[in-house]
Amino acid sequence: MNPTPHPNTWHSMSFDAVIEQLRTSPKGLSSTEVAQRIKNYGPNKITQRKGPGALGLFFSQFMDPLIYILLASSVIAVLMGKTTDAAVIFGVIFINAIIGFVQEFQANNAIRNLLQLVPEYTTVVREGLQKHIESEDLVPGDYVLLQAGDRISADIRLTFAKSLSCNESILTGESLPSEKSTAAVEVNAVVADRKSMVFSGTFVTEGTAEGVVVATGKKTEIGQISELMQSTGEVKSPLTKSIEKIGKTITLAILIVGLLVFIIGLFRHYTLVESMLSAITLAVAAIPEGLPAVITISAAIGIIRLAKRKAVMRHLSSVETLGSTTVICSDKTGTLTRNEMTVQIIWDGENRYTVTGLGTEVQGRTLLESTATEAKEEDIGELMRAGALCNDATLHVAEDGTWKMVGDPTELALIFASRKFGINESSIREEWPRLDVKPFDSVTKRMITLHQSPGDEKVIYLKGAPETVIPLLQKTDAIHPEKIKKEALDLAASGLRILAFAVKRLAPDDRINSLESRMLEDFTFLGLMAMKDPPREEVKTAIKKCHDAGIVVKMITGDHPATALAIAKELALSKNELVVTGQELQQMDDAALQETVKTTDIYARVSPEDKLRLVKALQANGEIVAMTGDGVNDAPALKRADIGISMGVSGTAVAREASDMILVNDNFESIEAAVEEGRHVFDNLLKGIVFILPTSIGLGLVTLFAVSFFPTVEGVLIRPMLPVQVLWVNLITAVALTLPLALEAMEPDVMNRPPRDQQKPFLSAVLALRMIIVALVMAGGTVGLFLWEYNIELEKGIDATKALAEAQTMAVTAMVFFQIFYLLNCRSLKYNVGAIGYFSNPFIYLGIFVVLLAQLFFVYAPIMNRWFSSLPLNLEAWSFSAAVAASILVIVGIEKWITSKLE
Ligand code: ADP
Ligand code: MG
Repeated sequence: MNPTPHPNTWHSMSFDAVIEQLRTSPKGLSSTEVAQRIKNYGPNKITQRKGPGALGLFFSQFMDPLIYILLASSVIAVLMGKTTDAAVIFGVIFINAIIGFVQEFQANNAIRNLLQLVPEYTTVVREGLQKHIESEDLVPGDYVLLQAGDRISADIRLTFAKSLSCNESILTGESLPSEKSTAAVEVNAVVADRKSMVFSGTFVTEGTAEGVVVATGKKTEIGQISELMQSTGEVKSPLTKSIEKIGKTITLAILIVGLLVFIIGLFRHYTLVESMLSAITLAVAAIPEGLPAVITISAAIGIIRLAKRKAVMRHLSSVETLGSTTVICSDKTGTLTRNEMTVQIIWDGENRYTVTGLGTEVQGRTLLESTATEAKEEDIGELMRAGALCNDATLHVAEDGTWKMVGDPTELALIFASRKFGINESSIREEWPRLDVKPFDSVTKRMITLHQSPGDEKVIYLKGAPETVIPLLQKTDAIHPEKIKKEALDLAASGLRILAFAVKRLAPDDRINSLESRMLEDFTFLGLMAMKDPPREEVKTAIKKCHDAGIVVKMITGDHPATALAIAKELALSKNELVVTGQELQQMDDAALQETVKTTDIYARVSPEDKLRLVKALQANGEIVAMTGDGVNDAPALKRADIGISMGVSGTAVAREASDMILVNDNFESIEAAVEEGRHVFDNLLKGIVFILPTSIGLGLVTLFAVSFFPTVEGVLIRPMLPVQVLWVNLITAVALTLPLALEAMEPDVMNRPPRDQQKPFLSAVLALRMIIVALVMAGGTVGLFLWEYNIELEKGIDATKALAEAQTMAVTAMVFFQIFYLLNCRSLKYNVGAIGYFSNPFIYLGIFVVLLAQLFFVYAPIMNRWFSSLPLNLEAWSFSAAVAASILVIVGIEKWITSKLE
């Protein structure tokens, strides 16, 4: 039988009652019990938030000023009695919406699935052992351990809390952290006042806590109001904004030119209907239907590619910003290095010891360096004990025989070191129970614990960066601070990470059971431990690539300056050997800092608020900054950075929530890959735009030209293309030809050119000129072919209506060929197709194949002939259209050649 959860009164119960009711204990549940409860309560999941629902997404496809114009056109067409035209226009809008919908729906889904690549973990106690489990596997009754930075994944009744605050804004709307304690509260308390509980979806901002899961999944407070779980709205990237601006300009231009066409029509004595129809043709022609889809699809495809390279984007729009990154500020530990720490050298204030055995080997020896003899208990015994006690990491052998490690790699390294010396951390922790702890944080850079010794003494152990330990030592300590500093510097210079240890024994009559600041003095120095954390091999290449791409890489670390410099040298990260410490940084004013960041690439002994200042200084210099971070305190810097990057393995949930991108395996290499992909996406987007716009302009020009100069027959204008035919061209190119461009291969020079200057417009003068040339050639070629065919047919004595229809069909076919040839050209905006490989993007040919099939259908299928007033063409007409259209390849080819010579 299952314990019956007591709905919503957990906060008012004593925790003994809670524990009894849920039939659990601080030793946690047994694995059989867990299995049983998972079956009964289901996984700890809230059904995925839907985003905008499918229907909403579909209707959002119509929410576009360009579409409004088309809709208005179809209404006008109905009013004029042109029902077929109206139907076709409407049909096209509809098909367009469906295509847009399908693409966006898939993109959204893909992104949602990607986010699941970064599972969340919770630390629990089960069967008496600390375990790191996926939060989805939590069950009511689980005993959970919480610390600052964690995202809470279930509703939990606290059994222990130390200076605990949580950010519950997602639940209560209150953005200030709310303090928590274990005391039961009144039964009628509202959620915000239930201080004895923490809730799923909220974050621990400070302190540590333990508690029992009382509700999971849909039963949690947040699960019951899951619609509140909306993610923050999409922030628009600079490029999206400029594209939207272009869209608005286009709309306005179309309205003006449309009006102009209407007036010209009246001026040339067309009927009202004819003039209207001309204006509609223009609108239909000039609207770039494919534009919004191109933006979404390019970014979505980029995001999917990125995920394969182990970087998960949290917002669609950040991809493009990535491409313009000019500075990457990266944490050293874990991102540039492997975060696999091994204690290698120990110093007891007098002698050095070397420790053998790497990484996760528990076999190894601790040898006095000078004599290579085994280290003695009286020399380093207490130091090693301090390492095991002033430590939150745990290690045990799992059922399958593998080591289960929970905790900070630095502290795990200390556990391995003590085991090699013969100290088992779990038995010693039982003999020396911990009375209190001040956990490590990257601001104080030290950790302190208070213990009850087996001899009934109270002992404080301290470990931390040497600079933070030395000031707390006894003034009369036998070992001079300068000697410690010198040794630390020596060890750090070989790239080792240094921890100093100290001890303080309290007077036997001291009744104190918790740490107070007055106790933090007069410590006795125990020694130093130096650990190796090797750089990741692949990072050196990645940094080189960044440098070639004009991107500066800066290292940010809490470690000793000498350690930082040694690792930076190994990675060839900096061109100079300048290192600035957090302390120096704090003494600089903003102006001085702004100067410093121009030359210095290594920042050591940095604390999180320095990171924020660094980002601001860089941004003030006009840089586009990507910044990594893993701790709670890093969140402001991550938010402020243009691209905030968090860690999938070692980072806190708070940092993840504040970031734009998550590195699945914490590896710097993925940042480099992300920049590369960002540039790739930008390139493809630009290709899409440069492809689509001339088509729209060209079609618009054809209409404008015809309205202005073509004759009328019985009051009806001779048009090179009917509105529905114009739509046809727009539709098939938007769908079949633009999409493959989003899949275009990477340009050979993506990482060999400087970052894009965000101050400059994204369409260069060269590209603008090219688009105008292309539009003119397309329009000229199409009109020319139309007139040629029309006259030939008339000369043959064919009936004028038929001649017109044939000539129009030829014009449409020519336009389609123009698209096809121009598409080949747009595969690279700078190089000729050969340079990027003829077959590097097979989708291009698939797209062309589909378009050709569709065009055959358009020309020969009777039903299409009826709807679109097309007529079958002969081979001569086909080949002539193709030949004229191929000229675009030559013309733009020459233009590219000239441009490249001028550069
Ligand atoms: P990083 O930015 O490289 O991750 P940290 O802020 O984690 O650096 O660590 C900075 C310094 O604090 C380290 O060089 C070490 O001396 C000390 N330190 C690191 N982890 C701990 C810990 N768990 N307990 C005590 N001191 C630590
Ligand atoms: Mg760290």
